[in-house]
Amino acid sequence: MDKDVDIAKAVRQHLEMEQFFTGFAVKGKTEAPEPRQERSDFPAANCVEELEKLVNEVRQCRKCELGSLRTNAVPGEGSPRARIMFVGEAPGADEDAQGRPFVGRAGQLLDRIIAACGLKRSDVYIGNILKCRPPENRDPRAEETISCLPYLQRQIEAINPEIIVALGAHAAKMLLNSTKPIGQLRGQFHEYYADFGRPPIKLMATFHPAYLLRNYVPENRKRVWEDMKKVLAELGLPVPQQSKN
Ligand code: URA
Repeated sequence: MDKDVDIAKAVRQHLEMEQFFTGFAVKGKTEAPEPRQERSDFPAANCVEELEKLVNEVRQCRKCELGSLRTNAVPGEGSPRARIMFVGEAPGADEDAQGRPFVGRAGQLLDRIIAACGLKRSDVYIGNILKCRPPENRDPRAEETISCLPYLQRQIEAINPEIIVALGAHAAKMLLNSTKPIGQLRGQFHEYYADFGRPPIKLMATFHPAYLLRNYVPENRKRVWEDMKKVLAELGLPVPQQSKN
C-alpha cells in the first residue's frame, strides 16, 4: 500500500481520537461556517510573537528522532501577512544545511513559480509538514508527522492565509486528511479547517516542484500554472502576461 495512505490513516486516527477526547467534532463535520472575515485585523497583534516563539520551539524540538539527526531545523519563513502559504513535505539536504525552506533546486523552481505569479518570495509564507530532514530524504514516518504537524497548524492559525498551496502528494494528503492521489486532488479548491469554529481556508493542491523537475514536460508545467492561475483569480490578483504559457 502507498506509504502516504498509511500515514494519512494514522494521522487521521490520531486526530479523530484527540478530537473525540477533547469534545471537538471531526474536521469537515462542523456546522456551516460564518463567512470569512476580512484581513484588516491581520497580522493579529500576537502573530509575529507566536511565529517567533514557534521558531524557537522548533529549533529545540526533540519530539522525534529527526531532532537529533538534523544539522538545522527548518521552521519556515515569510510574511506574517501572507495571503498565500506554500506547504511542502520536508526539508532536503540544502534546507537542512541552511535552516531555510525550499532553497535547493526545488526551491529555485518554486521561486520561479512565485515570480511568474507576479509575487516575491517575501510576499508569501513557505513551510513544510516536517521541520527536520528525514535521513537520505526518505518518506516522512507517521510518528514524525504526528509530532510535527501541530507546529504547522499553529503557523497556519497565526498567519491565517487566504489560500494554502499544498505542494505535492504528502502535504496535500496530510492537510486534507485524504488518501486520494495528487493527480485527483490538484487543480481544484479544497477546504482546510485550521481551527474549530473558524471559517475554513481554501487549499489548492498542486505538483511538488521536485516532482516537476523530475517530470519537466510542458503538460505538467501547464498543470501547475493552471493551478496557480486559479489561486491568483481567487485572490483577485492579475495574471502576469509573460507567464501565460
Ligand atoms: N522539498 C520540500 O518539500 N521542502 C523543502 O523545504 C525543500 C524541498
